[in-house]
Amino acid sequence: TPLRVAVRARPLLRRDGPAADLSIDHREFDRVFGADSSQAAVTQHCAAPLVDCLFKGMHGCLFAFGQTGAGKTFSMLGAEGGRRRACQDGVLPLATGDIFRRVAQLEAEAAQAGSSSQYQLRASFVEVYRERVYDLLSPSEDARRQLRLREQADGSVCAEGATELPIRSIKEVLACVARGSAARATEATGVHEHSSRSHAVLTLTLEHRWRTDRDDGMINKQHAKLTLVDLAGSEDMTRSHGGTGNRDGIATNLGLHALTRVLAALASDAEHIPYRDATLTRLLQPALGGDCVTQMLACVS
Ligand code: ADP
Ligand code: MG
Repeated sequence: TPLRVAVRARPLLRRDGPAADLSIDHREFDRVFGADSSQAAVTQHCAAPLVDCLFKGMHGCLFAFGQTGAGKTFSMLGAEGGRRRACQDGVLPLATGDIFRRVAQLEAEAAQAGSSSQYQLRASFVEVYRERVYDLLSPSEDARRQLRLREQADGSVCAEGATELPIRSIKEVLACVARGSAARATEATGVHEHSSRSHAVLTLTLEHRWRTDRDDGMINKQHAKLTLVDLAGSEDMTRSHGGTGNRDGIATNLGLHALTRVLAALASDAEHIPYRDATLTRLLQPALGGDCVTQMLACVS
């Protein structure tokens, strides 16, 4: 199926206090990862099929959903948000490693067959906050630069001029993330508050150029995107139900609620998919639905 949902429970931390019983109904999810699950197992289930798609020229999208502190960033990036590589690498570095292994193999096979085949991986990293999109990899002084949104023919928007960096190693993708996280942290008030209320969208674009004997010197080109989204904390969804949501809460809610409706519409094959309801869903429209594969990882503490 094009939409799959896994759930992951993180282990109890000292600060959690006494444990409550956790029970998850396995029938509700495609896969349940317990507190002892490894990053490798989560990546294998949630990201490997998306990496497969990438090599077939199809887009894929992986969302980490859950309350603040539930393990979204740990799952996506690794321990300490990917800054420390202590066998705790998350989905992004592990999947990037996967991509490079496959590229090396495919390029070697092509060379052996006497054809030429070249892959290039690039990354962009943007943040959606209060319905606006910011470039987290901007080279300018202004570390977190707001991007203009340009509407495209299909109603989706593209963030004009988002910086894309070439990625040649796992180290480079982690450097990208570190740079983006630093840009997020420059917000004057409440770093943690800010990053738990915004959506971090990291996109890997794989471009493939190849030529075979039959192509008469023509170069074939294909590209596909793998989008990893670390969503705003889901507590923001409930907060506004009580009527106490402030401006931030309501704006982030817009994205989370719109995403919920879009996924529900896609899952039920609805005719109308309400992408246009929020910036997050408009931005991700090309990576959702259609030929794309979508994976949700619901994190719980
Ligand atoms: P979120 O991004 O959802 O707010 P984090 O990923 O920052 O949550 O996780 C909160 C804390 O729990 C962090 O200290 C993180 O290192 C720890 N943690 C989360 N998931 C796991 C896990 N599967 N194993 C060990 N520690 C985890
Ligand atoms: Mg986080």
